[in-house]
Amino acid sequence: MDKCKSKSCNEHAVFLEQHCWDHLSERGKADYPKKLLNHLGSNRNIQYENFRSIVIKDIVFPEQCRFENCYFNGACISHCSFLRSQFRGTDFSNAFLKDCHFEYSDFRGGNTKLMNAYLRESNFEGALLQNTNLTNSDLRDAIFIKTDMVGAMLKDTKLYSARIFETRLRKESLCNFELKNPRRIKVGDESYKFAHSDERNPCTVYDPSDIDGPKPLYARFVYNMLMNNFRSIGYYEDERWARKKERIMERKRLYRLATFGDRFSDEIAIERCEKEDKDKLFESRKKAFWRWCCRLLLSFLGYGEAPLVFLYLSALTIVLFALLFLLFGFEYTIGSEIIIIRCNIKMLFSETSSFISDFWSSLYFSIVTFTTLGYGDAKPIGITKLFSSIEALTGFFIYSSFVATLLKRLSDK
Ligand SMILES: [Zn+2]
Repeated sequence: MDKCKSKSCNEHAVFLEQHCWDHLSERGKADYPKKLLNHLGSNRNIQYENFRSIVIKDIVFPEQCRFENCYFNGACISHCSFLRSQFRGTDFSNAFLKDCHFEYSDFRGGNTKLMNAYLRESNFEGALLQNTNLTNSDLRDAIFIKTDMVGAMLKDTKLYSARIFETRLRKESLCNFELKNPRRIKVGDESYKFAHSDERNPCTVYDPSDIDGPKPLYARFVYNMLMNNFRSIGYYEDERWARKKERIMERKRLYRLATFGDRFSDEIAIERCEKEDKDKLFESRKKAFWRWCCRLLLSFLGYGEAPLVFLYLSALTIVLFALLFLLFGFEYTIGSEIIIIRCNIKMLFSETSSFISDFWSSLYFSIVTFTTLGYGDAKPIGITKLFSSIEALTGFFIYSSFVATLLKRLSDK
């Protein structure tokens, strides 16, 4: 790499030129794509070259080009095609790569960087992106079909409306990615903030209206997409994670709809409140409220994705009802003798307290009730009859939910 020929410029000259992109004449900039294509026609192997800040558009590069350890930082490359190319160790940080075609390209090895890159509408079908760094990149409307992204870093990546399917990707790659907020994702009225700090960067000449996205999408749709992706590649553990997340987002959305009546939180609601009267809006909110309640209940059960939850829930229910039985009393048969076990706070602190043994009896009674065994040696009396009925029903519900969850788990594999 040679230095830029301009005075007091520390930048390296752009590949095939004597100046850096900023100091290249207008004519030089205009002729550059042709020059580059000519070179690639004869030699497709480019190593350690500078492409920083270059601006090129609508170019179809020859297939199977090799860009090894090249610098594309802050480059503005739109509507270009790089089919089956290799980008080993190449740096695309802060690059603007809108609607580029990277089908079956190879980004592996040499710590390839795609940080802060704008990759909207770019196509990575069949590309190899293992261990690449995509931190803080904009991947909206990008296509990842049959892409390999194992070990890729997707922290703080914008994934709304990206298309991901049959892509090898683990949930670990997605931690902290920008999906925390279930609200409407501002796309239309949010002008894209360019990651480039360099004022001279030519990318800023792009009209922000050019970058406006399609319809707003919700986090739950992204999780849904990820869920289908994980299923398509057989990562059932990750699929469960995505499904659970999706349902949490749905619950939050319903809560917003029920309480604040956020008309943007439901596409159907948008149409309704614009066309019809307020009664209908109230009705839809009421429905949303009940749906939210159901979702809340389901969330306690881990949305049927976590069998362990039922174990905790069973233990909690048994202990809770054991304490209730102890407080309100029940009949207990020892041999031929029938005693009534009932505790109060005063008895707990008296010296002749039989609290521990009473508690064991009560716990036993609770387990027998929970499992609907009913040996008959412990009988409810008074209000305890109501509690034991509730516990038996609760036990039955938890029991059957557990079986359903377990079956779902097993049918995954
Ligand atoms: Zn220069």
